[in-house]
Amino acid sequence: IIASQLVVPDEISVNWKDIAGLDYLIQELRETVILPIQKRELFADSRLTQPPKGVLLHGPPGCGKTLIAKATAKEANMSFINLDVSLLTDKWYGETQKLAAAVFSLAVKLQPCIVFIDEIESFLRTRTQHDHEATAMMKTQFMSLWDGLITDPTCTVIIMGATNRPQDLDKAIQRRMPATFHVPMPSETQRERILQLILRSEPVAPDIDFPRLASSTEGFSGSDLHELCRQAAVYRVRDLARDEMARENNENNRESNADTTGDSDEEY
Ligand code: ATP
Repeated sequence: IIASQLVVPDEISVNWKDIAGLDYLIQELRETVILPIQKRELFADSRLTQPPKGVLLHGPPGCGKTLIAKATAKEANMSFINLDVSLLTDKWYGETQKLAAAVFSLAVKLQPCIVFIDEIESFLRTRTQHDHEATAMMKTQFMSLWDGLITDPTCTVIIMGATNRPQDLDKAIQRRMPATFHVPMPSETQRERILQLILRSEPVAPDIDFPRLASSTEGFSGSDLHELCRQAAVYRVRDLARDEMARENNENNRESNADTTGDSDEEY
């Protein structure tokens, strides 16, 4: 189960070039997350400069959190485990306990490694007295495994969580994620960059007006823009296919008319 969510650096298909309009964020991630890993010997020298073991990406859905997490792993040459939290919440407690321990031990074996947890608040939300006992125990176990990483200065495993509800996260979890980055809805300029990136190798009209497209897509996330371009591309291909079908039908009709005419010639 875990291996199906695992990608080694060479196989990660995205890098910084696949992210548009977030240059300032990429720069921050480079300095906060990647540099301490690449220059470990300098940062590990003091307890105060240890590389972060927890990173939180928060912001609305579809704005690039997963993309950023994968690209960070790629750029830092780290393995990437995409941990599906439903695996930790759907199973019987004994199973989740083993699974959580297996994920951490795999990450340590593969280090440097990023363990990405999308919708992290869904299983590490603020604890309440109504929590099911199994849920509470699972959270405690997860945090103690995480603390094992934090206290080991030689370990290069980062838990990278993504959420669009950071306020729902348990305070104890927030403390374990000192590096926090907001991934916002794209502005008009950012939308223009994202559209240019999505359409960079597509056969678009030479007079395509990117600024106009960007200004008329207020409220669209990167994911919405991707879907918009996908639909436009499908319409284009559909039109081409329809034209081609019509041409083929015409040709077939012409040929069969010619055949009929030929037949009748023979008869006379
Ligand atoms: P969710 O919270 O729903 O998981 P997310 O914030 O993790 O969403 P992604 O899955 O990273 O969003 O983005 C979805 C898709 O939207 C990407 O695969 C990409 O096609 C497009 N996209 C989003 N933001 C950007 C961006 N800044 N640059 C380029 N493409 C983007």
